[in-house]
Amino acid sequence: MVDQVQKTNPVVPIATLGDRRRAFTRLLCELVIWAEDTLHVRIAFDEVTVHSPRAARLGVQRVIVQDAVHIPASFHHQGLAADLLVYPDLDGDGSMDDYLSDGLHPIWRAIARNWESRHEKCTAGIRWGDANHVSFGEGSREGELP
Ligand SMILES: [Zn+2]
Repeated sequence: MVDQVQKTNPVVPIATLGDRRRAFTRLLCELVIWAEDTLHVRIAFDEVTVHSPRAARLGVQRVIVQDAVHIPASFHHQGLAADLLVYPDLDGDGSMDDYLSDGLHPIWRAIARNWESRHEKCTAGIRWGDANHVSFGEGSREGELP
């Protein structure tokens, strides 16, 4: 019987898309737990996987639509990106009702730094001005985090 949570850091395979999606999911969950425990914030997932193209209903018709929010090469389409909503207690009153809308807040850099430390494929969108976006295998990690 397991009577305590055992922290593990397994070597995760990343050869296939399925491998990468499972690795990304695990790493993302670990990031959320770390951020909540360390930065004293709460986190909710906003968009994660965005299927495109996908079927949609238009009245009684079924049509195929393309995602027009993300770029065509978005890692959200592969299930390898997530947008995080971070709820800090900025005024210390215990209330975390509002998520952080300021992409320049230092919390984003702390999250990005921790995310990129978890695996060589982890990339933080803060590098290209998308502070709440984290992904797996997207873009370059050259240079310091902004
Ligand atoms: Zn995103």
